[in-house]
Amino acid sequence: MKFAVNDKNLRIEVSHSGEKAFCPGCNSIVIGNKGEVKDKYWRHKAKECDSWYEPTTLWHLSWQNYFPLKNQEVILKDPENNVLHRADIQLGNGLVIEVQNSPIKPEEI
Ligand SMILES: [Zn+2]
Repeated sequence: MKFAVNDKNLRIEVSHSGEKAFCPGCNSIVIGNKGEVKDKYWRHKAKECDSWYEPTTLWHLSWQNYFPLKNQEVILKDPENNVLHRADIQLGNGLVIEVQNSPIKPEEI
């Protein structure tokens, strides 16, 4: 996860490993990770709340970065079951773009 929220409810990226913030979806505690091999990211301290979550790669982040920050990693709620998911990209007109670099079944799409 690229973004978390701080105690002022501001959307933030990881500044250092071990940093604590909150998941913008479920509001649980997330821990910042910043290494030399992988880019910086947030992980849930307990259970990941997005059942569709997959680890983010630099390839994935580089595609997201073609879009403004406000359009990246947008929290959406499935109106049928109230389950939260993070859209890789959501445009101003509501269109969602999923960045996918591995096989996916048509029913998952
Ligand atoms: Zn969460």
